[in-house]
Amino acid sequence: MGCKPMADEQDKVVQLLTEYPLYRKMRFTDAAPLNFPEQLHLWCPKCSADRTLDLSDEALIEGYAHNWQVKAVSYTCHTCGTLLRIYVILRDHKDMLLTKIGQCPPWSIEVDEPLVTLFGEDSIYYKQAIVCMSQSYGLGACAYLRRILENRMNDILQRLRTLLETEGADTDTLKRVDDAMSSNRAVDKAQIAADVCPPSLRPGGFNPFSVLHDELSTGVHSLDEEECLEVASKIRAALEYVVKRMEEQQQESGSYITVIKEIQSKRSNRTASPSPE
Ligand SMILES: [Zn+2]
Repeated sequence: MGCKPMADEQDKVVQLLTEYPLYRKMRFTDAAPLNFPEQLHLWCPKCSADRTLDLSDEALIEGYAHNWQVKAVSYTCHTCGTLLRIYVILRDHKDMLLTKIGQCPPWSIEVDEPLVTLFGEDSIYYKQAIVCMSQSYGLGACAYLRRILENRMNDILQRLRTLLETEGADTDTLKRVDDAMSSNRAVDKAQIAADVCPPSLRPGGFNPFSVLHDELSTGVHSLDEEECLEVASKIRAALEYVVKRMEEQQQESGSYITVIKEIQSKRSNRTASPSPE
């Protein structure tokens, strides 16, 4: 049968490349040759925005040793052309395991600007969570991320409220957000955020606040490191998405309002001082 991996297998490779730390193993069921995604979506430091990355070289290095296949690939920012990532992947054909054995630049523990702005002094917890994840310490990563959600859900809700207001949400919706902010439990706040989450924050209909809610309600005490790592990865991906997207939308609507104001003020200047002819 065909060599094309199924969509969910391809999603797994995306996850392996962008979210997995080095040496964390991923089980792979597809027996077809290892295909890399044509595009990834990551933060480009040069563009200072989330960007599409194109697969620029799918066989920088390729080799076989016993049951192992090693492949290195590179990805370039679609917008500015900067080479952003090189990944080296090892595929164990016998046990059907994929492992990322190299990444350049390495997993950064730097927290992106929009998250630092929102999390303030709690950014240090976010950094600690990333350090734990890079070492596959899932339990530690979960503890730090949950602390951030407990401390910062109101800041996230405040941003969400601003966004909803800009998009013309009705007063009932805004009141629900206000009520959520006065609630004591992060999990309840996340539930309301999920309920009012606008379509502009739902990539492919997927609700990132539902992810935060579900993962917050999961009791991590009974989970092992690997399961906690999965929970932490989901929380991190959802947080990165909502915080960056809300920041982008705020900037977009901000610059739109600036342009409209400039046009209006030019117009009123023209009416106030007619040309001397
Ligand atoms: Zn770029």
